[in-house]
Amino acid sequence: MKSYDDMDRESILKIVKIFSRLYPHPTPTLKWTSPFECLIAVILSAQCTDKKVNLVTRKLFGKANTPGKILILGQKKLAGIIKPCGLFNGKSRNIIATCEILIKNFNGKIPQTQPELETLPGVGPKTAQVILAQIWNKPAFPVDTHIHRVANRLGICTTKTPEQTEKCLKSKIPSRYWHDLHLQMIFHGRETCKARRPSCHDCPLANLCDSKNNNFQ
Ligand code: SF4
Repeated sequence: MKSYDDMDRESILKIVKIFSRLYPHPTPTLKWTSPFECLIAVILSAQCTDKKVNLVTRKLFGKANTPGKILILGQKKLAGIIKPCGLFNGKSRNIIATCEILIKNFNGKIPQTQPELETLPGVGPKTAQVILAQIWNKPAFPVDTHIHRVANRLGICTTKTPEQTEKCLKSKIPSRYWHDLHLQMIFHGRETCKARRPSCHDCPLANLCDSKNNNFQ
């Protein structure tokens, strides 16, 4: 069997093309209509499903969808609305602090660089990369647990952490593919290459995957 480290560029590009056919126009599942709404939705999505976040943000953004309006709402009411997303005390605290910083340091706008984004409470490197990719269309490859798993199973990367996987994918895949590919890999991880019992028999990537039919538990 070939080493995972040895997956050649040609095979990786074949995988990228198959993903493009599987999900030709991938769009984020989180719903938002402004950069600020996107930021809040991504903060709320930590350890919560996108479906639940969308239910919560529909209610929240109906009441408050700017930093100023969230501050008027206040942390207590905010926490009550976002409670279904979990971790609501910490998330509401971070969102209030983020709104204060946005108004004070960024004129109420969402910054466009990773270092600036990471000054916002609740925004780590992955969240910052999501914002850069999805709002500002900048070359970014935010790696979540699905992408980390899929990349390693396919053999594109042999890595232990999502951070290492991000570096690996960026080094092996041209940046023009990053935006769509990060969404395509998430969808594939959710729908087919699930953590337990992946559907290898139904997987269009099986011929290129060294992990097919492994007994994942
Ligand atoms: S063949 Fe199986 S392990 Fe490989 S990518 Fe497809 S679902 Fe995942």
